Amino acid sequence: MLILVANCGSSSAKYELLNVEKETVLARGVVERIGTNLSSIKHEVKSKDIFWKRKMNCPDHHRAIELIRDIITDPEEGVIASVSEVMGVGHRVVHGGEKFHESTLLDEEVIKGIAAVSDLAPLHNPPALEGIKGCMNIFDKVPQVAVFDTAFHHSIPEYAYFYGIPYDFYTRYGIRKYGFHGTSHRYVSMKAAEILNKPLSSVNLITAHLGNGCSICAVQGGKSIETSMGFTPLDGLLMGTRCGEMDPAVVTFLMQHEDMSVDEVNAIMNKRSGLLGVSGVSNDMRDIMKAMYEGNVQAKLAYDMFIYRLKKYVGSYAAVLGGHVDAVVFTAGIGENVPDIKDQVERDLKPLLNGGTKFLMIHTNEELLIAQDTYKIISALNK
Ligand code: ADP
Repeated sequence: MLILVANCGSSSAKYELLNVEKETVLARGVVERIGTNLSSIKHEVKSKDIFWKRKMNCPDHHRAIELIRDIITDPEEGVIASVSEVMGVGHRVVHGGEKFHESTLLDEEVIKGIAAVSDLAPLHNPPALEGIKGCMNIFDKVPQVAVFDTAFHHSIPEYAYFYGIPYDFYTRYGIRKYGFHGTSHRYVSMKAAEILNKPLSSVNLITAHLGNGCSICAVQGGKSIETSMGFTPLDGLLMGTRCGEMDPAVVTFLMQHEDMSVDEVNAIMNKRSGLLGVSGVSNDMRDIMKAMYEGNVQAKLAYDMFIYRLKKYVGSYAAVLGGHVDAVVFTAGIGENVPDIKDQVERDLKPLLNGGTKFLMIHTNEELLIAQDTYKIISALNK
């Protein structure tokens, strides 16, 4: 069964066409810089040795979905003869608020529900909705499913997701921890259980998604019970350009002393902090490590902070899991490619953890899990 996975961000629309049973990717690509005069499409079909990027006029997400349909059905460069071969479309949706705690078949009500929590993810949910509406139009006979980044963290207990501010802000605005990267944490948890050769329901895991954005999750019996990102994806670990945890009073201090607006302070914390802000070199771990080995002191500080904070979270999540951790899992760009980071965490923490803890690097595959969820929901419809 072929499933199209769509991941629409503010200026991009990524796609992957997968065969779910075979777990293979037929085609993938991305429409970038949507809404600018620099918009382009990248398209890759490994089986035909196709990989190119072309300039393409694309004013909005609706057009982006049309371009994706045209390219995957192109007789020369596509992989299917018509859209009727696509059995379902799975959409990555960043925020499901408190309402959506699992992947959900899309209809008008669900779309309204996603729009209702758009305030919580103003950069992410509106473009996802544009993509959903585009796909409902263009793949109009095909069932569509929303897969939420927040859903996996629905099992976090109340005492862990509440913030110590007046209760009223929770009831009025839904201010609480939600957590993100849920699809990735869920995917690598399942893979880790397979590697450990134990049922997911019986293992305790700490999963670290270390990409441009970084988050860590305590997973008990396949359920998230704690995670480092919070109300937004800004909290927790040091990231490429995001600050992660810090005293919230820094925000008001900066606003007062630098006469900064809300937007300015937001931009600093989201775009000019983290590895980039501390090192002054780059947001990319490869550049940080190169500069560090060349003797750059700030790059070394950024690297040390990254690892220190990671270790601090792994240690505290071991406590959250009652001291028993079957495996610590490293995934995403940094987690999958920098064994030095895994090795240092392992060396420093192994003596503190129960003897049997494994330290694993596992490739994440959010698109495959989105396709599998979509497949499951669609198959149940046809029964
Ligand atoms: P995203 O969060 O955007 O999906 P990725 O998971 O692709 O990001 O991770 C991107 C980051 O992974 C890069 O910024 C870079 O720091 C890091 N990375 C990727 N490959 C390597 C590598 N071979 N060595 C070190 N770091 C890497």
